[in-house]
Amino acid sequence: MAARVPPERDLAPLQALTPARLRERVPEITEAEARRLLSALHRELGPGAQLRNVRRSAREAVARVSHVPELRVVARAASELDPFVKLLFEGADGARFEAVRIPLERPGRFSVCVSSQVGCALGCTFCETGRLGLRRNLETWEIVEQVRAVRRTLDAAAGQRVHGVVFQGMGEPLSNADRVIEALHVLSNPSTLAIDARAITVCTAGLPAGIRRLAAEAPNVRLAVSLGSARPETRRRLMPITAAHPLDEVLAAAAEHALATGHSPLFAYIPLAGQTDTPADAEALARLLHDFTARAGRRPRLSLVPYNPGRSDSEHRRSDAPSEAGFRALLAEYGVSAHRRYSGGSDVAAACGQLAATA
Ligand code: SF4
Repeated sequence: MAARVPPERDLAPLQALTPARLRERVPEITEAEARRLLSALHRELGPGAQLRNVRRSAREAVARVSHVPELRVVARAASELDPFVKLLFEGADGARFEAVRIPLERPGRFSVCVSSQVGCALGCTFCETGRLGLRRNLETWEIVEQVRAVRRTLDAAAGQRVHGVVFQGMGEPLSNADRVIEALHVLSNPSTLAIDARAITVCTAGLPAGIRRLAAEAPNVRLAVSLGSARPETRRRLMPITAAHPLDEVLAAAAEHALATGHSPLFAYIPLAGQTDTPADAEALARLLHDFTARAGRRPRLSLVPYNPGRSDSEHRRSDAPSEAGFRALLAEYGVSAHRRYSGGSDVAAACGQLAATA
């Protein structure tokens, strides 16, 4: 009688596994074989590649329980303003989500901004993804595959490579923590994608339990927190998640993260005209940063992210240049330095806050 072929839904996507997880599924292969098989997959050697030192029986055992699903790229949009490129993907269920290729200062180095969910339930008012609502979580392999798809757009022979990953695309990564943490392990494992964990950042709107998990389960990955506003009332209006998790709770978890991991968090802040760029906002923000430094023993990095309106009507406006300069000058007077993030690809809706899975 022929051996039963398991239906595809029972097969494990191979690109979602670390060598240890592969061996949990296929205990008969050795640790070295698991490493070599996954390394070949991530170096894109192809199924016919001759793998030295991997027994044929090991390859067959892995093939019986796993597959390598493909993620369909339905559009690729290159910005005309800067070297940002956005990829639009479609899952087997028709769900669409995006990743952005971000050039870094060092020539030939790129970061990939990945999505963790299709849509998002958190509804931050300055974010286009938040208007979509949540359709579903992305699977681990769908997260990993975004990085592999962006890597395929690079010219490896010319020395181009993926240096880092930011979880700042569609979705709240810590609402999908199980899969995101699995993906972090695959991205950073030396036998798989081998991206330095310190070059990977998870950006959250503020889920304290998820921040604690990140510290315990992926301690070298960097944490970024989207502050919204340092004033509780304003934050509640901009980021409805504040009602469930007030900023104080989020900052307490971020301080624990800093103490446990030894890494300073990054705080992202969007200056919005008349809402978060006033002198009172600068004072509240400076106080928050000083309090955090005293509590965590580490100075957080502050990144000012220019507001990028999406395609739908928005109640917000970007802080104009003189107001933003005044805001930064006030922060400096209070002893706080801020870096202004370049948020590129706005002409193809690839900039921070614009991702809405549109071609
Ligand atoms: S900013 Fe992040 S958490 Fe907030 S709605 Fe957008 S994707 Fe969700």
